[in-house]
Amino acid sequence: MENRGESESAAAGPATSSSIPPPTPASYGRQKTKAQLTVEGYPVEGISIGGQETCVIFPTMSLAFDIGRCPQRAISQEFLFISHAHLDHIGGLPMYVATRGLYRQRPPTIFIPAYLKESVERLFDLHRSMDQSELNHILVPLEIGQEYELRRDLKVKAFKTYHAIPSQGYVIYNVKQKLKQDYLGLPGNEIKQLKLSGVEITNTVTVPEIAFTGDTMADFILDPDNADVLKAKILVVEVLQLFTNMVNLSSIVIAAIQL
Ligand SMILES: [Zn+2]
Repeated sequence: MENRGESESAAAGPATSSSIPPPTPASYGRQKTKAQLTVEGYPVEGISIGGQETCVIFPTMSLAFDIGRCPQRAISQEFLFISHAHLDHIGGLPMYVATRGLYRQRPPTIFIPAYLKESVERLFDLHRSMDQSELNHILVPLEIGQEYELRRDLKVKAFKTYHAIPSQGYVIYNVKQKLKQDYLGLPGNEIKQLKLSGVEITNTVTVPEIAFTGDTMADFILDPDNADVLKAKILVVEVLQLFTNMVNLSSIVIAAIQL
C-alpha cells in the first residue's frame, strides 16, 4: 500500500476541554475525499514521503508511529512512538507537544529509543527557553526488548531495526485474560466461587497486533528476537524503491498477515 498524502478521514481522538477547539477534518481547508484505509479492522492513516515525512496513525488506538512534520491528524493521538532521530521521522516532535498543549489535550506519552533521552530532553528545554511554554509530555525511553503497559489491555515492546543510525521498531500487543482450560465449561457461579476463593482461573494471553519498523534494512526479519514482529496482524514497513518504477520514491507497505 502506498499512501502518499495525509489521509483526511475523521476518527475520534481524546476529548478536549479547551476553549480553542482542535481542528476538525472539515476545518482543514481544501479537502480531498479519500477512502479510509482499513487493515485487519483498524483504520490506518498517514503520510510517507521519502526523506521528508513519515507518520503512520492508528486513530482507534490513539497512537502514531513517528511524527514526520506533525501532520494535523497526529495531534489527537495520545501515544507516539519514535523509531529514530532522522528529521523526517522526528522533526515535528516539539510542534506535536506544543499543539496538544494549545488545545489543552492530555500531555502525550512519547516513546523514544533510550539513547535519545538526553537529546530529546535538551530539545524541549531549548524550546521552553525560547518561548516560555510548558511543553508537557511524558517521555518514555525504551531499550530494545523492553516492554511498557499502555493500558490494561495494551502493551508495547521495542525491537531492533537496521538503519544508518540507531533505530528501533515497536510491536503493540493486545493483552487478554483467558479462562484456563481446566475451567472451561464450568457453570458461571462455580467459576465465580473459584475466583472469590483466590484460585487463579485465567491465563494472560498476549497477541501481537501491530508492528512498525520505520526505516530499516530487511535484516530485522532474520533477527530471532523479532519473531513477534512477523506474527503481528499488521506489519508496517517503510522501504525505499520497492518497485522499479518508483525510483527515488518511498512507500509504506502495510501487510496484513493472518495468524
Ligand atoms: Zn532514517
